[in-house]
Amino acid sequence: MSSNILVINCGSSSLKFSVVDSASGQQPITGLAERLGDTGAVVSIKSSGNDKIIIDIPNGEHDKALSTILDHLQQQDLLETIQAVGHRVVHGGEQFTDSTVIDDQVLLAIEACNHLAPLHNPANLIGIRTCQKLLSNVPHVAVFDTAFHQTMPEQAYLYPIPYELYKEQGIRRYGFHGTSHRYVSMALADTLGKPLESLNLISAHLGNGCSAASIQGGKSIDTTMGLTPLEGLVMGTRSGDVDPSLHHFLCSQMKMSIDEVNTLLNKKSGLLGLSSLSNDMRTLEQASQDGNQQAELAIQVFCYRLAKHIAALAVPLGHIDGLIFTGGIGENSVAIRQRVLALLAVLGFKIDDEQNKSAGKSQHGLITQPESTPAYVVNTNEEWMIAKDTQAAIQ
Ligand code: ADP
Repeated sequence: MSSNILVINCGSSSLKFSVVDSASGQQPITGLAERLGDTGAVVSIKSSGNDKIIIDIPNGEHDKALSTILDHLQQQDLLETIQAVGHRVVHGGEQFTDSTVIDDQVLLAIEACNHLAPLHNPANLIGIRTCQKLLSNVPHVAVFDTAFHQTMPEQAYLYPIPYELYKEQGIRRYGFHGTSHRYVSMALADTLGKPLESLNLISAHLGNGCSAASIQGGKSIDTTMGLTPLEGLVMGTRSGDVDPSLHHFLCSQMKMSIDEVNTLLNKKSGLLGLSSLSNDMRTLEQASQDGNQQAELAIQVFCYRLAKHIAALAVPLGHIDGLIFTGGIGENSVAIRQRVLALLAVLGFKIDDEQNKSAGKSQHGLITQPESTPAYVVNTNEEWMIAKDTQAAIQ
């Protein structure tokens, strides 16, 4: 029997999909629908061995995008092979500690988390409901970004604010990127040939969004993101940690509205804000090499804060069996890994420059010297994790 899973990641105006063989991780077909609801709405589809196909769906919404995608799967004789649909859902609150087959109760419970992720969960729900209508003959499974971190103890997830805000409003740290942190920790244990239960790991997912997590015996015990994905590390356009009084300062002194502050911290800060140039690490590395001081400064702040957070994440672990770099920056930037490990000499990291240079795509590479606390580059694969979870949930 086929083990093909359709993986859907639905945003408010975009929808990513892939067909993933949950056994092998192969992705025979992937694609993206963009600018949904707009005159320029478009679906692009890439199947292995073929050129990318672009299909215009002017003013098309999610239903049009999905029916276009499903028609294409039908033409490729793939539709019949789909066993289930795995939906990425950003926020599962405290209710969801694992991936879950979706029924009416689950839909209501996801909806009840909408206030915790108002930009993401409603869009995820549109994806689920549309897909359920068009593919009603297979089970649908929700895979939550937050679920992996539900094992954090109270001392890690509580904010030091009045306790009733947690009890009555659910205001606490949740953490995100759980699918990636889980995948890379499992993949590293596999590569090392050691049981995951025996390992104390720190994983640093460094993409456009960035977060790091302490993972003890395969369970998240602390992470850098909080109630929202804004907390923690410096990211492409997000500030990460700032003084909580900054909001008050910007509103009272600069007459900004709270929404303007929110936009500033989420969309105009981080690498982009500091460099005044770009949110893209490749662009900044090039600019820094060309002598752009502000680009260099942005990289320095990024690395310094990342190193401090990684050091803090060592506290609950006691000792570190491995530090994992993953995500677009973690997997590809030789220089960022070098800078961060140099800042972390206090934890016993000693980089191996040659191995650091050769680590990267399609390797699980050790990048430190034999006597060092080990650090690795592990390529993440969130789609495969979602497919594996979906397969497990329907069994
Ligand atoms: P997303 O979080 O959107 O999935 P990615 O994981 O693809 O993003 O990461 C995007 C980031 O990775 C960008 O900042 C990009 O510049 C960076 N990146 C990709 N390749 C390199 C590279 N060779 N060197 C430095 N940074 C890189």
